[in-house]
Amino acid sequence: MQPYVVSHYINGKVAKAQGSRTSDIYNPALGEVAGHLQLANQADIQDVVASAKKAAESWGNTSLIQRTKILFAMREKLAAHTDELAAAITREHGKVLSDAKGEIARGLETIEFACGIIEQLKGGYSDQVATDIDLFSIRQPLGVVAGITPFNFPIMVPLWMCPVAIACGNAFILKPSERDPSVSLLLAKLWTEAGLPDGVFNVLQGDKEAVDGLLQHPDVDGISFVGSTPIARYVYEQGRAHGKRVQALGGAKNHVVVMPDADMDLAAEHLSKAAFGSAGERCMAISVGIAVGDAADVLAEKLRTHAKNVVVADGTQPNADMGPLVTKAAQERVTRIITEAEAAGARLIADGRGLRVPGREKGFFVGPTVLDNVRTDMSAYTEEIFGPVLILTRVKSLAEAIAMINANPYGNGTGIFTNSGAAAREFQRRVHVGMVGINIPIPVPVAWYSFGGWNDSLFGDYHIYGADGVRFYTRKKVITQRWPEPHQESGASFAFPSHK
Ligand code: NAD
Repeated sequence: MQPYVVSHYINGKVAKAQGSRTSDIYNPALGEVAGHLQLANQADIQDVVASAKKAAESWGNTSLIQRTKILFAMREKLAAHTDELAAAITREHGKVLSDAKGEIARGLETIEFACGIIEQLKGGYSDQVATDIDLFSIRQPLGVVAGITPFNFPIMVPLWMCPVAIACGNAFILKPSERDPSVSLLLAKLWTEAGLPDGVFNVLQGDKEAVDGLLQHPDVDGISFVGSTPIARYVYEQGRAHGKRVQALGGAKNHVVVMPDADMDLAAEHLSKAAFGSAGERCMAISVGIAVGDAADVLAEKLRTHAKNVVVADGTQPNADMGPLVTKAAQERVTRIITEAEAAGARLIADGRGLRVPGREKGFFVGPTVLDNVRTDMSAYTEEIFGPVLILTRVKSLAEAIAMINANPYGNGTGIFTNSGAAAREFQRRVHVGMVGINIPIPVPVAWYSFGGWNDSLFGDYHIYGADGVRFYTRKKVITQRWPEPHQESGASFAFPSHK
C-alpha cells in the first residue's frame, strides 16, 4: 500500500502544510511506515491561530442553545463513526480494536457532559446587596485555546479538552501526537458535519516547532497539555512565561497495594489487565504492585498464570488482548529496563522480551512481563516504563506501602485491594495521589468529575474536563449594577465605595 499523507485542518478544511518537513507514521504491528505527516512551520502556525481567533469572536457570541445542539449532533456523529475511528487508531497506535472503541466511549462521555453546558455556566445572583444594587457573576470564554496531546489516547485525550472548551465558547486548536495523527482529521471532519462553524475546531500537525509556536503566540489564550512529565513542565513554564493560562498533565508511576485480606483472584486479574491492557501504554496503567505481608507469594504465582494467558497479536485480530508498542524506540526502552532489572537482582516471573508474533515479525512487540522483588533504586522502579511490565515490591505493612507511594515523584492514580473498610479509608486519606481506586485498578473519573494527578503528574491548578474544565476554559466576571430613577441621589463619593 502506498504511504498516505496527513496534514492540517484549518478553517473547516484540510490544509496542506506550507513547509517541506515531514515525519514518518508507522503501523507498529507491521513495523513499517504507513504514512507521512506534514509538520507545521511558522506560516501554518500564523494561519491556524488567525483562523481560530476570527472564529472565536462569533462563536463566543453564539447562544448556548445553539452550541448545545451542535454538541448533541457531534455526539451522534462520533458514535455512528466508532468503527472507522477505532480502525484508524489501531492502525497507527497498535492497541486492540476493543480498546480503541473504549477510548472513544470515554470521549463520548465528555461530549455528554458538555451537552449540559447551560447548567455548568450558571452564574450567581444576589438581589439588593446594597440599596437598589444587585450583583451577579458570569463566566466568559478565554478566546483561542490549544490542546497538545500524547500518542497513547489519540481521540480520548483530545475529547477530554475540545468539547468543554468549545461548549464554553472558545475556538480550539488541536496539536496531536506525531505518532498517530490520522484520527484527529476524522474528528475535525465530524465537527464540521455536526454544524460547528469553520475555524472553531482546527488541527495543527507538528512537533516542537508547532508547540513552541502555540506557546509563544500572543493570540493563544490557554493551553491544555497531556504528555510526559519533562514536556509538561516545559509547556507549563513556557506557557506561563508568555502570559497564558496552562494546565499540563504529566507522566505517572501508578502503584496498587494488595493487602493480605484481599480477594487474591480478583486482585491478580485486575492487576494483570490494568498492567497489560493497551500494552501498558496508559497513564493510568498499573506498573507497581505492592504486596503487603504474605500477599506476595500467592499474588506472584497468580500473576505468572495471567501473564502467560494474554494473547499478543496485531490489534486488528479479534482474539487479541494486547498489541505492539508504538515505536521501535519504545520496544527497545522496555526491553532494556527488563534486562537492567534482571541484572540488578529482580526475579523474572514472566519475560516478554524477544516475543515473535507469527506473520508480524517486524512488529514492535514485547510480551507481558512480571518482575518480582523490585527495589526502589532499580530503573524498573524509577523510570516510567510505559510498556507491558508489572513490577512487584514487597512490604510489611500498609503504612510502609503508603510511605513508598508518597515518596514517589508522581501522583497520578493509585489503588488498594482489600476487604477491610478501615484499611481502605486509611489509604484513601493518607495517600498523596490525585485519583484513588478502592478495589478498582484504573480509577479514571467519569466526565462529570474531573481528572488529574498530584506532584509531577500535573502542573497547574485545574484538573481536566468536568467542572474544572469549565473553570479552566472560562474567565469569571462579576457585575455590580444599579438602575437609578431620574433625580435619585447619585451615591457617588470620593471615599472608597461602601454601601447601605
Ligand atoms: P510526549 O510528552 O512525548 O508528547 C506529548 C506531546 O508533546 C506531543 O504532542 C508531542 O508532539 C509534544 N512534544 C514532544 N516533545 C516535545 C518537545 N521537546 N517540545 C515541545 N513539545 C513536545 O508524550 P507521549 O510519548 O506522546 O505520551 C506518553 C506520555 O504521556 C506518558 O508519560 C504518559 O504517562 C503521559 N500521559 C499522561 C496522561 C495524564 O492524564 N496525566 C494521559 C496520557 C498520557
